[in-house]
Amino acid sequence: MERLIFICPKTRNGVDLGIESEIGTLLRIRSHMVRAKCPACGQTHEWPVRDAWLAEAA
Ligand SMILES: [Zn+2]
Repeated sequence: MERLIFICPKTRNGVDLGIESEIGTLLRIRSHMVRAKCPACGQTHEWPVRDAWLAEAA
């Protein structure tokens, strides 16, 4: 499983939204948007899946 890390546009911090996915699924949902409350700044952002960094889930 891969873990998605997004960059908070406000703080520029990497935020882990707790989303894990198989790489094959990620490739299929690349054009989707993820909307979530940002743990870094507390605001809600929308991120394109293709902008996520991948971290390997432990
Ligand atoms: Zn944020």
